[in-house]
Amino acid sequence: MILIVDDNQNNVYSLKKLLDSKGFPTDTANNGEDALGKALNNDYSLIILDVQMPGMDGFEVAETLAGYSKTKEIPILFLSAVNTDKRFITKGYKSGGIDYVTKPIDTEVLMLKIKTFYRLQENNLAMKKTQQSLELEVEGRKEAQLLMKSEIDHFQLMLEALPQIAFTLDENGLINFVNHKWFDYSDSDLRFPETHADDLNIEEEFQRCRRKGEALELEVRIKHRISDEYRYHLLRMSPVSQNNTVKNWVGTFTDIDDQKRVEREKDEFLSIASHELKTPLTSIKAYLQLAFRKLGQNPENNGKEFVGKALDQVEKLNSLVTDLLDISKIENGKLKINKKQADLEEVVSNTIDTIIQTAGNPNVRIDRNFTNINQHVSFDPVRIEQVLINFLTNAIKYSPENNHVIVSTAIKKNEVRVSVTDFGIGIPEFKLASVFQKFYRVEESSVQFQGMGIGLYICSEIINQHRGTIGVSSQLGEGSTFYFTLPLN
Ligand code: ADP
Repeated sequence: MILIVDDNQNNVYSLKKLLDSKGFPTDTANNGEDALGKALNNDYSLIILDVQMPGMDGFEVAETLAGYSKTKEIPILFLSAVNTDKRFITKGYKSGGIDYVTKPIDTEVLMLKIKTFYRLQENNLAMKKTQQSLELEVEGRKEAQLLMKSEIDHFQLMLEALPQIAFTLDENGLINFVNHKWFDYSDSDLRFPETHADDLNIEEEFQRCRRKGEALELEVRIKHRISDEYRYHLLRMSPVSQNNTVKNWVGTFTDIDDQKRVEREKDEFLSIASHELKTPLTSIKAYLQLAFRKLGQNPENNGKEFVGKALDQVEKLNSLVTDLLDISKIENGKLKINKKQADLEEVVSNTIDTIIQTAGNPNVRIDRNFTNINQHVSFDPVRIEQVLINFLTNAIKYSPENNHVIVSTAIKKNEVRVSVTDFGIGIPEFKLASVFQKFYRVEESSVQFQGMGIGLYICSEIINQHRGTIGVSSQLGEGSTFYFTLPLN
């Protein structure tokens, strides 16, 4: 906007009309004081200032405007009927004005000057605004950087306080922070600790996970720098993402060596105990079978019934010891699978018959949801029967109120699926994934039902060795479906 200052109403009127006709927004003032007040309250791009005015003259107004930061930059165009003298023109410039036009005014020249000043000032203002916003942005960025730095410092301070080895990596997978525990196992903050020759390579495993953007979890032995001892550590490295891109990685090595040793000792104990138990148990079983047969020849002797019960118990003990032996075989990588082409349907129906005969409960009903498996399946019949027996005995054991079980088979794409459904107590959803772990028992049922929590663990190993899948779905209080799949040839 342009401010026209003149005590002569006619001059103001004609100049305003001229500027309005050229499309310039204008404002007017009739004396110096009024002009000062307006200039301090509004934003003008140009002030056209009459020099001769009663009260404050144009020069005084210009000098005062030059004293305020808000107004000192506004260009001033002096208008005067007199004072064409060079002395006065110079005074006009000194007081902050930019140009000086004498009356009578050549409107064309005046308009040219106004246009130029106006545009210059508009550009100036625009540049200032840009500069201000740039300054603001720089300021904001500086603050954000400071904030980020203090957050990183805080985070690293926390990692220092951890009892584990802790470290971070940048988006390119390069280590950029390690806590002091790191140096117990590595002499450089750029290199991972040395791993045991039989264990996986950390760098390779990390790069594999980095390509997929997945977290890494690895049990690995790393070498202590002073004792030269390799200790088992659980290495965890997790990506930290922002807007779906991985910005950092944070990792820890947790010492699990003592835990591992206890686990090893327990496995060794189980292995020795089950082997040592197996031999006398086999003899007891053989002697009991002999006694059972002998007593059977004498119909008057009722001891046969007791020997029969003792044999049943020995059979249960035998299957427990066999399970324990299987566990130690799994630990030592010795659980062997003898795959051959066999009739899966025959195995399924024979197992159902065995379970019905040995269940000792006439109410047990096992229905067969039948899909004829007319394709070749290669599997170990003894081990797959073991899995099915486990599923079926569990289905009956964990369904005290309902003895109905359904065994289904189905063929999907290139695999066959066998499932066992019961209508028993069910399993809480968040515990489903754990039931295949070694020695895991669902708390709610562990008091009421006997068991060791190893059957399903062995089943999952057997199925894994067949390159199949094993799983469960369940509704608490309504029942469960355990299934396994085997690949078709
Ligand atoms: P065990 O039955 O000897 O405890 P398993 O490994 O066979 O061991 O089963 C592990 C756990 O899974 C069981 O303790 C039980 O809590 C749960 N479970 C297995 N089968 C069923 C089922 N059909 N219904 C409900 N819970 C089950």
